[in-house]
Amino acid sequence: MSGRPNVLRSVPTNGRGIRQMSTAMNALTPHLALLSSITIVVGAAMVRLGIGRGRLEARQPRRRCPSCARIVQGSVCQACSA
Ligand SMILES: [Zn+2]
Repeated sequence: MSGRPNVLRSVPTNGRGIRQMSTAMNALTPHLALLSSITIVVGAAMVRLGIGRGRLEARQPRRRCPSCARIVQGSVCQACSA
């Protein structure tokens, strides 16, 4: 063996060489599920309230005219249809 430490031997194994998985932070606990649900509900309520009061507006997708590449505001390109 060389003098370098073997980093793979520092990983805990179960005696058969299989790495043990830590389950401490992997489980979905009831507290975490409740906190996630409340956060999502409050966020959705704030978005609905913002849209309802006119503080937020849905983003309009910008379309470009395929022939002149200008941004089309209405249903047709004003530069090409004139
Ligand atoms: Zn155009």
